[in-house]
Amino acid sequence: MRSDTNPFLGHEHRRPDVDATEAARLLETAFGRSGIARELGSHQDRNFLVQGEGEGGARFVFKVARHGLSRAALEAENEAMLRVAAAGLPYEVPVPQPALDGSLVTTGTTSGGVTHDLRLVTFIEGEPLDEVGYLAPAVLRAHGALAASVARALEGFDHPALDRALQWDLRHAADVVEALATYASTPARRALLDRSMAIAGAALAPLVGDLRIAAVHQDVTEANTVARRDAAGRPMPAGLIDFGDLSRTWIAGDLAVVIAADVIHDVARPLQVARAVTLGYVGELPLTAAEIAALWPLVVARAASVAISGDQQAALEPDNAYVAETRDEEWAALEAVVDVPFALAEAVLREAAGLPPADRPMVKLATSPVFDDAPEPEAIDLSTTSVALDGAAIGDAGAAGALVERVRAAGGLPVGRWGEGRLVDTVLDSMDETATVHLGIDLFATAGTAVHAPLAGRLRLRPHGVVIEGGILDLVLDGVDPSAGDRTEVAAGDVLGTVATAGPDGLPPHVHVARVAVPGLDAPRRAVPSLAAAWLELCPDPSSLLGFLPGVAAAPPEDPAALLARRDAVLATTQVHYFDAPPRIERGWRHHLVDTSGRARIDIINNVAVLGHSHPAVEAAVARQLHLLNTNSRFLYEPMVAFAEALAARFPAPLDTVFLVNTGSEANELALRLARTATGNEDVLAVRGAYHGWTVAADAITTSTLDNPRALQTRPAWVHPVEAPNTYRGPHRGPDAGTRYADDVRATLAGLAAAGRGPAAFIAEALYGNAGGVVLPDGYLREAYAAVRSAGGLAIADEVQVGYGRLGAYQWAFEQQDVVPDIVTVAKAAGNGMAVGAVITTRSIADAFGAEGSFFSSVGGSPVSCAAGLAVLETIDGEGLRENARVVGAHLRAGLEHVTADHPLVGAVHGMGLYQGVELVRDRETREPADAEALAICERLLELGVICQPTGEGNNVLKVKPPLCLTRESADIVVEALGIALRG
Ligand code: PMP
Repeated sequence: MRSDTNPFLGHEHRRPDVDATEAARLLETAFGRSGIARELGSHQDRNFLVQGEGEGGARFVFKVARHGLSRAALEAENEAMLRVAAAGLPYEVPVPQPALDGSLVTTGTTSGGVTHDLRLVTFIEGEPLDEVGYLAPAVLRAHGALAASVARALEGFDHPALDRALQWDLRHAADVVEALATYASTPARRALLDRSMAIAGAALAPLVGDLRIAAVHQDVTEANTVARRDAAGRPMPAGLIDFGDLSRTWIAGDLAVVIAADVIHDVARPLQVARAVTLGYVGELPLTAAEIAALWPLVVARAASVAISGDQQAALEPDNAYVAETRDEEWAALEAVVDVPFALAEAVLREAAGLPPADRPMVKLATSPVFDDAPEPEAIDLSTTSVALDGAAIGDAGAAGALVERVRAAGGLPVGRWGEGRLVDTVLDSMDETATVHLGIDLFATAGTAVHAPLAGRLRLRPHGVVIEGGILDLVLDGVDPSAGDRTEVAAGDVLGTVATAGPDGLPPHVHVARVAVPGLDAPRRAVPSLAAAWLELCPDPSSLLGFLPGVAAAPPEDPAALLARRDAVLATTQVHYFDAPPRIERGWRHHLVDTSGRARIDIINNVAVLGHSHPAVEAAVARQLHLLNTNSRFLYEPMVAFAEALAARFPAPLDTVFLVNTGSEANELALRLARTATGNEDVLAVRGAYHGWTVAADAITTSTLDNPRALQTRPAWVHPVEAPNTYRGPHRGPDAGTRYADDVRATLAGLAAAGRGPAAFIAEALYGNAGGVVLPDGYLREAYAAVRSAGGLAIADEVQVGYGRLGAYQWAFEQQDVVPDIVTVAKAAGNGMAVGAVITTRSIADAFGAEGSFFSSVGGSPVSCAAGLAVLETIDGEGLRENARVVGAHLRAGLEHVTADHPLVGAVHGMGLYQGVELVRDRETREPADAEALAICERLLELGVICQPTGEGNNVLKVKPPLCLTRESADIVVEALGIALRG
């Protein structure tokens, strides 16, 4: 990378000394235009935004070139832009506009007598990608695809000016960095720079002969990429500007520039960023193995050139705010990329590029057992789905100890599996992905047991054990107290030491054996799931070196995508799933959900699991009942009576009679039939935008167009929607809102009466859950209930979502409105996830149903569902969950209000207790629902370890309705994660 004479020594560019007034004059003279609006940032040139004439007139960029840039270079740039513009890509590029003299590059002289080359190009509307903050994987992929598409459009392009020695051409990176190194603002930066260039240079040297060269843009950075939001709210690349670094150079360098730029947005995850960008790039333009191998060293070289030139520019122009702003981030990015093991980067990028894993020499090595007379190995399952860990607290290593003992007692050698995402390593309440996937095999043995070298090689000590350098591979043995003295060579079978007393990670004593396929690579014991595949390739299954049968000690690979494909193939697509690429969630515990990689996330949407997931009280009650009896509700058994009694006891008089069903839909169906038989009327009033279930009648009163876009057209004549009592969105928002919304109920009833009909019922959620947790205006239900009753109808409260103590201050949401309904429906929480639903009403309404015969729902009220239902009610009381909902709910509410207060996207925080909603709007005045943004935030929250989904008619309200056992710590994480997601 280094030439004999360094063309970059003394290479300094100051931006042209042209201000907006001067620019206006030059523009007028050369292009006959006016309208300079403001200066746009640039490292080394001057760019001005030119406002077109009239409202919405096309905008342009007026470019004043710095000195030292040849006219030929500007012409080459223009030609390249025209070529890309003509290629029909789904991206815009600036199009050069002719000057008054007809040329695309003209000159102008400032009042100070300095002549500059001038151009006018079209302005691309959108957001620069560097202003959007966080770049989601889909955005990164699209960014890679943009770079590759432009490179393809430039295929075959040539121009004499392209062979100039350009500072940003990565072929010259060593010279550039060497020439600028004296500008490094601190000695630490200087050292980092030197280290980076040394290792990048060494890695590149053997590859440069194999790197393809072509004309490329070479500056597809986030700052030069213009984005527009897609339907999911993501800022997708839509245009590319600034062709000033165009040159004929390494194609791979073009991609390295994109990666180095995007890493600045997520310095904690450089490889994940690189992988996504590369995936998008190779979809348009495949890369060779040599190019992939060169990519990371090129990323390092680019990051180094960018960082040092930032220091240079800052030294030359202390007032260049654009440079000052980005400098520290650029150094942080360099630090992040140089710390990545190059072999790991190559493995990650090869996979992204669709290349097979790199060839590794395969040699049969003579091996020897680690322990004398060891019994047969028996794998212990420490994964998310391990039966042995059922009921154990997540992350509790003690549970693994019991499992080890069990295998040992049965005469086996307990072995922890290679490639396993372990539940014992799961970390709760973490926004970051944590290292859960094991790269080695663990051999559990009593402390003090002699450990023998499985193969011959050079011996090296490391903090918790030893490494045997076997030439083509390293074998790591951790958890060993070495006794090899100062020996540096071992033969297979030599004693290395003894099993250490304390096993790492709180597990019982064990030797961790990892096979490192790249000698010298410092492999961790565990990898984060997003890099696990690459790490497992670099640290392949060591079983064969331990003499184990294939597969004995390897965990099956985690493959959520394959499961999703099976799901799609067999289930109706209308039976939808959350998230674009859903994690495979196979375990829940309290308010946490754990995927099969061992990652835990906080669940804030599961009001069904009211007690928390996998609650032992429900499990025990159900298991016990399954041992005893499960049958239909026509038999006489105690659980049905006990559950119904417990439920009825929690309602005010005269609600004393219970029907047991399975689901909310079923409960609402029954509620409608009860109302009709009791009143003799058929018509039902339901609030707009509500959801009451999917079955025929429940769907008829469901006027939410979110679940059924045709809900309003397909509604049968007996359903009468009334104004949604939503004080945030609806027409009435003041203190009299309750009465104003009730007016619509009264008017609808009057209309019915005028047609000679009476209502069977008025049904509403008593806190507007489907709108995102909006508390009903004071007095609304009181007035609505009074009106419907005086017209001969009944009041139904749908408490399927909002009841069961979730509001904290109230057991049932209707209490908040200070009313007592005639019929209440419950489900969801009623069984903590088991199918349990109920209708609670008065004895006389229930008896009136006799006119229709008897009621029977085979497994509604079955012994098992009643056992679950009773356990739920008792646990809510026993664990004080309603009080927790009140206290933690208030804490969460305060946090949500605080973190969202200054964010224009947040219109309101609704609800109370642990039923809340964060309503996202594009404009706080018009309250236009920010639905795409809500989806994008939910995808981001998923990455940050929080499971959330939007609701509401506009699909723009983030649901906040976690299990009632939510802790303050988890609430704080939710708040922090939302803050990060909102900042973007
Ligand atoms: N009512 C309300 C208010 C609901 O939110 C739901 C479910 N989302 C239902 C009824 C229907 O319940 P299920 O899905 O158990 O049939």
